[in-house]
Amino acid sequence: MRLLPAPAGSGIVFRRTDLDNFEIPATGRNVAKVSYATSLMRQGVLISTTEHLLSALIGMGIDNVIVEIDNLELPILDGSALPYVQAFHSAGIRTQRRRRETIRVLREIEVREGNKFIGLYPGSGYSIRYSIEFPAPIGRQQTSIDLAAETYGTLIAPARTFGYKADEKRLRDMGLIRGASLHNAIILGAKGPENGPLRFPDEYVRHKMLDLIGDLALAGRRIEGHVVAERAGHAMHTALVSRLLKDRSAWELAHIPVATSDGEEAPAAKIPALSTPAFIGA
Ligand SMILES: [Zn+2]
Repeated sequence: MRLLPAPAGSGIVFRRTDLDNFEIPATGRNVAKVSYATSLMRQGVLISTTEHLLSALIGMGIDNVIVEIDNLELPILDGSALPYVQAFHSAGIRTQRRRRETIRVLREIEVREGNKFIGLYPGSGYSIRYSIEFPAPIGRQQTSIDLAAETYGTLIAPARTFGYKADEKRLRDMGLIRGASLHNAIILGAKGPENGPLRFPDEYVRHKMLDLIGDLALAGRRIEGHVVAERAGHAMHTALVSRLLKDRSAWELAHIPVATSDGEEAPAAKIPALSTPAFIGA
């Protein structure tokens, strides 16, 4: 997989180099099926497990990039978004001279299913509160982040995906997980992680936050508002995106002004993109 700089306004676009450079933009229109991971499909061409890379891009403030990949599945790496963030740092992030266009939330949108909930509310910046409740040994965890505070790389990106050892055989039989191992996921036994130590005491909820940020990237532009998620998952995350995109009265396209040192608004704002290609994965 290779990431390339892209012109301002182009967004995040996947390119299948094994299929004549067929392009699939990362937008809600192209969401395919969602179970244990999020996939995109356009004209029958699939890209699967997009959430960790998209999360890293949004978390690090990268709006425009071309993602070249020569097969349908993004690399799982260590199960977190940290290797992506490190690759962005080594490639460099360039500021583009154009205002960043955001989806500014004007009124609330909520999706509820049983005791699962996700809601999007007006607010400045982009902040998220996530709470989970899983069987032991996880239990209840809650965390919040303000993405404008530039703490994504240290507080969210390193959090790894996780699974219960008891579910492993069933999931593998159903074809829902491939190659989950002690190197790319936290494997949970009855007493706790079998391949500890954890990177954070609440690594599980941080990873759910990571997934959410990646799935909401499918809105197509950075969100300006506040998100609350309780016991949600990929299906709830992407349901919120489709609800948002359908309800044109709930948001407007806004342009983020950038203040200069003397307090005047700059003539053009900043949209970061990679400055050189980044190579990622096996
Ligand atoms: Zn994940």
